[in-house]
Amino acid sequence: MLRIALELADTEPVDFCQDLSLPEGVGGEDAVAWEPVHLTGRLRRSGSGYTVSGTVAAQGRLRCVRCLAEFVFSFEERFFVQMLPLSLAPQEEEVQLTKKDLDVRFYTEPVLDLRELAAEQVELALPVKPLCREDCLGLCPRCGADLNKGACGCRPEVDERWHKLLDFHPVS
Ligand SMILES: [Zn+2]
Ligand SMILES: [Zn+2]
Repeated sequence: MLRIALELADTEPVDFCQDLSLPEGVGGEDAVAWEPVHLTGRLRRSGSGYTVSGTVAAQGRLRCVRCLAEFVFSFEERFFVQMLPLSLAPQEEEVQLTKKDLDVRFYTEPVLDLRELAAEQVELALPVKPLCREDCLGLCPRCGADLNKGACGCRPEVDERWHKLLDFHPVS
């Protein structure tokens, strides 16, 4: 049951609980691999559309943008998505009313795609700049050594402005 016809929720709420493999490309170049995502929730009729609420739990391996090492990234988040038919096109006032945690989307096909939902929630939870740890030291720009494993033999980078000072010989 990866796709749920919205009309199923017209009479009573539809609960779902699935382990889903994510489509290719979720997380872009920063993501190395994903475990199946655990998605549980409830689809219910609401006003002129539907709401989907639940929890998404995922674990994967990301690549640190500083030192390029892989590290485990896992999270569990609640989500709330409102689904409205496209005929109720977004209007200025409605967009302003949208709360940060209330995601509204407009559908043409009256179907809830669970894989798509899981992929979106994982993208939302991803850090903008994945870091293996907050204070990752990264790689030496000269020799490429992982500075988290200790200092390399390179001399510290000297700022251009310092070169001028170092070249300056006072006239005696
Ligand atoms: Zn790192
Ligand atoms: Zn180095």
